[in-house]
Amino acid sequence: MEKQQFERPYIKKLQAGMPSKFGMKPKAEPITHIDDNSVADLIGEFGSPVYVISEKTIRETYKRAHHAFTTRYPKVQFAWSYKTNYLSAVCQVFHQEGSWAEVVSGFEYDKALGNGVKGSQIIFNGPDKTEKDLKKAIENDSLIHIDHFDEMYTILALSENSGKKPKVAIRINMDTGVYPIWDRFGFNYENGDAWDAVNRIMINDKMELIGLHAHIGTYMMSANSYKIAAGKMADLAHGIDKKYGISIKYIDLGGGFASKNTLKGAYYPGSDTAPSFEDYAEAISSGLLNSELDPRKLPTLILETGRALIDDAGYLLGSVIANKRLSSGHRATIVDVGINLLFTSFWYEHEVYPAAPVSDHLEETTIYGPLCMNIDVLRESIAFPLLKKGDHFVIKRIGAYNMTQWMQFITLRPNVVMIDLKGKPHIIREQEVMDNITQQEKLPEHLA
Ligand SMILES: *Cc1c(COP(=O)(O)O)cnc(C)c1O
Repeated sequence: MEKQQFERPYIKKLQAGMPSKFGMKPKAEPITHIDDNSVADLIGEFGSPVYVISEKTIRETYKRAHHAFTTRYPKVQFAWSYKTNYLSAVCQVFHQEGSWAEVVSGFEYDKALGNGVKGSQIIFNGPDKTEKDLKKAIENDSLIHIDHFDEMYTILALSENSGKKPKVAIRINMDTGVYPIWDRFGFNYENGDAWDAVNRIMINDKMELIGLHAHIGTYMMSANSYKIAAGKMADLAHGIDKKYGISIKYIDLGGGFASKNTLKGAYYPGSDTAPSFEDYAEAISSGLLNSELDPRKLPTLILETGRALIDDAGYLLGSVIANKRLSSGHRATIVDVGINLLFTSFWYEHEVYPAAPVSDHLEETTIYGPLCMNIDVLRESIAFPLLKKGDHFVIKRIGAYNMTQWMQFITLRPNVVMIDLKGKPHIIREQEVMDNITQQEKLPEHLA
């Protein structure tokens, strides 16, 4: 190896918001309207802060994803991931588009039934299904995705006392080249556990193995990892066909497609780096079609995409409370949206836009939420224009997980509004009132 030239080390100030030598667009383009409703009107009518969901964006995004897959693979079924956003109005848009439901708890299961989803179109995932949950799922012919052997034995026991033959799939985890492997869910492919699970189901006729399931992670930036996963699932399905003469009805590749949000510390914005639906569809379909699977009886491909289908449709609108200078001279803007309403700010550099045209002068700013808590920071450092007290702003791309992981902490949760295809806003979840919280409380007599 050639001796390298010594270069004197130096310290260089990192410019946030300057991802390459070409920089970022230096202007803060405002978002003044969402689906023809002005931000000022929405806040005027529904309060600040307020979540806004665009029905149009949900449907368009779903159609794009659906098209990307159905043009590449003959049998495709989406199942809406309830935990990503289980507001009924949101679920119903997906169900109207043709999505089944994918749930991970008894609560979510009941919510799907309440939304009118047929039992046979509910996929029941997750490590914690109670006996009561499983009984109900068996009764309703739902698709039960087994997570561990203990659950398999519970289902076996339940099936003995029921006239029904449970329809099951096994969840499989595997090495797809992305680390750490999510190996805490399901049965491992490489160490033979997956085959062991298959064999145990097949040797008795108490359960019907109809599918294979994997959910390899979330915000997966590598489309190729899905190709690897699809290939391994197809190999397993082919092996089952060879050994038992049974063709698996579906291969479910779970969710995990990245949305266009930018992860903290990422060099380039997510809008430039996240694979498209076409990229994922191409990877998955080639993984399946290039396998040993018999092309005359291909399994249905199920997708449980959550984040990538709903993130773009959600906005969080708010108002500036105050500006101040920190002791370092750094500018701080305090807003009425805290991390209690924007859980994903722990992972993402959320895009924050003014809601009206502002000056071109941007200054490095920290955006703080209103909570009395030091970690309530929406953006550590963002090139941001000076907004005055009362000015509105829009946080883009927040439809995934924030309306399920939100916290009732210090304040009450605000209205959630959906703008329909005609541009009319509807409240789909009312802002909380004191009673919602206190009605659950009980005061022991000696404290009353
Ligand atoms: C959370 C979850 C999903 C949805 O994941 P996204 O990353 O939102 O696409 C799908 N399937 C299972 C089993 C999940 O746990």
